[in-house]
Amino acid sequence: MVKTIQVNGEMIIPGTRGALVASRSEPGAWHLVHGGKCDCLGYEYRGRCRHVAAVDALSSARVDAQPNPTFALAERTLAGAFAH
Ligand SMILES: [Zn+2]
Repeated sequence: MVKTIQVNGEMIIPGTRGALVASRSEPGAWHLVHGGKCDCLGYEYRGRCRHVAAVDALSSARVDAQPNPTFALAERTLAGAFAH
C-alpha cells in the first residue's frame, strides 16, 4: 500500500526528483510536480496551481523533518512511476 502525506488538504507522495499530488477533479489520478512545474491543465493555463503550492509547503516542512520510512517508500514508488 502506498503511503501518502497530507499537506494543505492535498494528498502527496514525495520523492527526491519530484512529487505526485492527488487530483481532486479526477479521482484516482495523480499530477506530477517536478522543478516547480506541474502537468495539470491549471498550471498550463496559469503557470501555478494548488499542486505546486502543496509541494512547496511540503518542501518547507521537510527542512527540519527527521528521516521517515514513509519518504523512502514513496521515493521507491515514484521511481517506479518515472520508469514507465
Ligand atoms: Zn497542478
